[in-house]
Amino acid sequence: LGSERSELIPILLAVQDEFGYVSEFSMQFIADQLKMSANEVYGVATFFHFINKKPKGKFIIRLSRDMSSIMKGAKSVARQLRNDLGIRMGETTPDGMFTLEWTSCIGMNYQAPAMMVNNEVFSNLTPPKVHRIIEDCRQELYAHRPTVGNVGETHASTLSYASHEPNAALNRLVQQRMSPADVSGELTVSGLKGRGGAGFPTGVKWNLASKAEGDVKYIICNADEGEPGTFKDRIILGKYADLVFEGMTLAAYAVGATEGIVYLRYEYTHLRPHLETILAARRKANLLGENILGKPGFCFDIRIHMGAGAYVCGEETALIESLEGRRGEPRNRPPYPVEKGFLGRPTVVNNVETLATASCIVARGAKWFTSIGTERSKGFKLFSVSGDCARPGVYELPWGMTVQQLLELVDGQGAKAVQVGGYTGELVPASQFDRVMGYEDLGIGGSIIVYGQGREMLEVAENYLEFFIEESCGQCTGCRIGNTKLLDGVRLLQKGTCSNRYLNDLIGLSHSIKTTSKCGLGQASPNIFIAINEHFKEEIMARPVLAA
Ligand code: SF4
Repeated sequence: LGSERSELIPILLAVQDEFGYVSEFSMQFIADQLKMSANEVYGVATFFHFINKKPKGKFIIRLSRDMSSIMKGAKSVARQLRNDLGIRMGETTPDGMFTLEWTSCIGMNYQAPAMMVNNEVFSNLTPPKVHRIIEDCRQELYAHRPTVGNVGETHASTLSYASHEPNAALNRLVQQRMSPADVSGELTVSGLKGRGGAGFPTGVKWNLASKAEGDVKYIICNADEGEPGTFKDRIILGKYADLVFEGMTLAAYAVGATEGIVYLRYEYTHLRPHLETILAARRKANLLGENILGKPGFCFDIRIHMGAGAYVCGEETALIESLEGRRGEPRNRPPYPVEKGFLGRPTVVNNVETLATASCIVARGAKWFTSIGTERSKGFKLFSVSGDCARPGVYELPWGMTVQQLLELVDGQGAKAVQVGGYTGELVPASQFDRVMGYEDLGIGGSIIVYGQGREMLEVAENYLEFFIEESCGQCTGCRIGNTKLLDGVRLLQKGTCSNRYLNDLIGLSHSIKTTSKCGLGQASPNIFIAINEHFKEEIMARPVLAA
């Protein structure tokens, strides 16, 4: 066991690996070791979905219930699983072999439906396929198999990453004797904005962190890709992890950081061995470690920290809280992480795509990047596309395309609506498919879910709200309670028993949830309720009112 509170979550996960769950006795023992109260440890353990507080089955089956999975048949897969196992969702078989659960998005939307069996991923599921998987589990075929990341391929079009010369950015830094300010300056000129969704200029962030006072500084790669419908970061980590680590190393140089942390979402545990192998190779090649590439004083290394299942930890201050061994609850800002982040030190948090793109920019120069995109949205962006289209997958596209152009590319013409930017983004109806993807209009995180003509918008809203309720950290009343009221409202609409007056009250509530919530989750959670009322009013009010 470690002795620092920041080691709490790795310790909880290690205890779970050993015993299958974290008992109250273990929590007390851990608390004593870390000089914390058992209540605090319990509070953290109960915050995260993937820390088991009671014994579970030898095989924990977690079926993704993101909207793409639901559209592609997750409910019939669930029925098959329930029948085969003789249990309901949330239950464990009497012989202790299987636990069956729903889970939030596992980043496999283009191959939906998908599920995890322990840490192994199975995709493109059908009832006969899951029946075979259960039989294989019963015969112990999966019991001792190492996780291999059974995640298949995709229509991945990642041209800029694929053509990046290995370590070209670091080589340029050394050969052209770039100063730290030159590196962040190049990014500032390029106009690169954070690709996690918030869109803060990357060069400015690096520059602020470089000027912040601190004996130690940190670079954190946010690989907690939890937005439903997003899987591009998983593809980047699987195919172009070197680019991400190169980006972290560039950031470290620009900022003066010595320690890097990849915060990897639990659902991507299958990627960890691959990432550790690449990190080891980079250390061997002196691309990490002491005096990188022979540059005196350029010292930096990277470690991987596993998340434990909490969507809100994608928010940078919540991520830092959980890294410090606390519940992943977003902090009040200021101070911002660039001044006071991990352990109170200056910290840069960038997501996977931002770091990979930064490497391409430093290698090729800001001019190359600014020649792509629009006036206010420079460069390209990776989009994860799923739902009702013939060619789902990851696409690298210049900013500035319309939703209609994207639909033509992915063979999703004739759609009824497109969710742009994941559940926290915007539902765009067909009448607005001429809208532009870029910061001037739809500045987005990269998740695109296509809804065909037959999709019911109330089912979509129900799914989103269930997700937000499940993932709320509970700090803000609107987010914690208001969304349950909206979900009740959706169910009344489904039954045809919601009056216009009550619907208007719920719209008012939606706006107050937006304004009173502390973080992006709560602020964006009512968007779907507002959108279906705005764009699909006739549809949502069309149900016949049931007789009392
Ligand atoms: Fe937590 Fe929701 Fe408030 Fe965000 S908005 S801090 S998730 S309660």
